[in-house]
Amino acid sequence: MLTCKQQVARSSDYLDGQLTFRERLLVRHHLLFCPNCRRFIKQMRLLGATLKKLPETPPADLDSTVERMMRERSRSSES
Ligand SMILES: [Zn+2]
Repeated sequence: MLTCKQQVARSSDYLDGQLTFRERLLVRHHLLFCPNCRRFIKQMRLLGATLKKLPETPPADLDSTVERMMRERSRSSES
């Protein structure tokens, strides 16, 4: 049986369908007995689906957006 650490190391490959049949069986077996890793895989899958839906934003743009939001928040708390 895989340890949780080994399981986590395989999870992105598992979700991408990159594992061999044997490794996939090992992962499935671990998930069957480990609720923590089941939750982890579920979150990874959700995150992957969310990231695919997001438009790609350049980091510089993101910074200025965050800065503007913070400025607006501090301004509204003053009044
Ligand atoms: Zn586990």
